[in-house]
Amino acid sequence: MAARVQRLSRSMLKTLRDDPADAETTSHKLLVRAGYVRRTAAGIWSWLPLGKQVLENVTRVVREEMDAIGGQEVLLPALLPKEPYEQSGRYEEYGELLFRLRDRKGGEYCLGPTHEEIFTQVVKDQCASYKDLPVILYQIQTKYRDEARPRSGILRGREFVMKDAYSFDVSDAGLADAYALHRAAYQRIFERLGLDYRIVSAVSGAMGGSASEEFLAPAAAGEDTYVQCPSCGYAANTEAYTITVPPVSGDHPPVEDLDTPDTPTIETLAAQLGVPASATLKNLLVTVDGEIVAVGVPGDREVDMGKLSEQLAPAQVELVTAEDFVDRPDLVRGYVGPQGGMARTAFRYLADPRVAPGTAWITGANKPDTHARNVVCGRDFEVDTYLDVAVVRPGDPCPRCGTGIELDRAIEIGHIFQLGRKYADAFELDVLGQDGKPARVTMGSYGVGVSRAVAVLAEQTADEQGLCWPREIAPADVHVVAAGKAAQTDLALEVAEQLGAAGVRVIVDDRAGVSPGVKFTDAELIGVPTILVVGRGAKDGLVELKDRRTGEREELAVADALSRLTARTA
Ligand code: ATP
Ligand code: MG
Repeated sequence: MAARVQRLSRSMLKTLRDDPADAETTSHKLLVRAGYVRRTAAGIWSWLPLGKQVLENVTRVVREEMDAIGGQEVLLPALLPKEPYEQSGRYEEYGELLFRLRDRKGGEYCLGPTHEEIFTQVVKDQCASYKDLPVILYQIQTKYRDEARPRSGILRGREFVMKDAYSFDVSDAGLADAYALHRAAYQRIFERLGLDYRIVSAVSGAMGGSASEEFLAPAAAGEDTYVQCPSCGYAANTEAYTITVPPVSGDHPPVEDLDTPDTPTIETLAAQLGVPASATLKNLLVTVDGEIVAVGVPGDREVDMGKLSEQLAPAQVELVTAEDFVDRPDLVRGYVGPQGGMARTAFRYLADPRVAPGTAWITGANKPDTHARNVVCGRDFEVDTYLDVAVVRPGDPCPRCGTGIELDRAIEIGHIFQLGRKYADAFELDVLGQDGKPARVTMGSYGVGVSRAVAVLAEQTADEQGLCWPREIAPADVHVVAAGKAAQTDLALEVAEQLGAAGVRVIVDDRAGVSPGVKFTDAELIGVPTILVVGRGAKDGLVELKDRRTGEREELAVADALSRLTARTA
């Protein structure tokens, strides 16, 4: 089957020598410079011809693998009435992330951030009996999220392309099967795309389980961190990392006040007392929906505000301000402790699992310039709720085997999730069961960041010269460069036509008045896997083949070059 030949002399392509001023990540810089995408507004991108082809290639791989597991493709609207999202509670929960708008009659709408609600309604309407299930539905569609900081180019857009799939089953075993199918399909997708990725647990707990996993692509530009155990293979998003600390037994002397003037910080306190920061208990005050709450962590630890917010959601978490202390003489700023009658009843106490029953601490004495030692958890104070809110560090214990964990940065490229009956309950999605009674459906939801995958691939494969696509994803198989003279251009076009006729996708740089140097630089920047140069040797029937990745070059006869390049598609 013949393949496309793109003549640059007739193409809209403007490459840039300099990085865009606002670009922070490699993919952002290179995709703009090589003319793949153009920024239209913050987090909103236009896909130019080369970019659209790469996006299309990723889309094709995703579609083929979804079809292979029996997924049925649909296309649901992106402009959605608010009612279904109100019914599930997400109209509120999404907060500022959701784009909301009104029509001319004042009707309220949102732009779909993800479509669980709408798919549930579709299936409720279309499937009546257990015989109509299981069903896997998917779409490849534009999503909208008003991201707080849309940086990093198309890695995090406010408009982006996602493949979202949903499975519907009557039994838990059916859901587990659908989940396993998606997991395997995602492995095939990311392998075909040539992405380096890890599967990590997205749910807390030592078990990890399979209720939700993320596919992460290790990358310096990543906004996610994940933990990995070098010894047992445990891997989880840091948000899902948990530790368990057994209670400690042993006697402790009674609480004793310490005169500690001028020690408003843990560092100053530890230095004055000559103890490690980890012997002290830090009590961070926050407001949770306006109520003051204290969060206890060992003094050498920081509270991860993101994790805290996540775990207390949908409640709003804020750091306390001076105003919160007005009318609260019981809260002595800088010297707060969880022990003692007044303070004890004055706030809820949340704590890191390391603040385990039986552990003894140096902490604020709830009096100015005073700390207390031998403050024992379970004896002198109680923890209301344990939360994993401390910033995770390399060397922290693996929840499975206790080995010190490693930390790395990554970008989330996919997410698979056993939702269970949450949405089926919200929409009363039942089918007639085998026993003649209504059976509540159980669901899974499965996402791939399609546009994000383009940027991640660029991120993982680029080198100093520019982009460097895997063949399956590249906008062409071969980039033919006509180095200069008219005769060379003629031969280049002829070679390009022959390759195209043989099913090899070609870009041919036949631009007149562009120097060979610029053409070579552009070819490297655009990143097609094979570069074929028609230059000085052309008069003797010779061309040069260059491997974009390794830089290896070879001069050979036109006919040999053609047979080599066409052999791949045969
Ligand atoms: P993130 O944590 O990066 O914000 P998420 O957990 O909100 O992502 P999901 O709701 O699981 O994302 O969406 C499924 C997939 O869509 C993600 O795995 C990711 O690849 C992609 N995705 C999510 N948000 C964006 C975005 N703003 N731009 C591009 N792709 C995105
Ligand atoms: Mg996710």
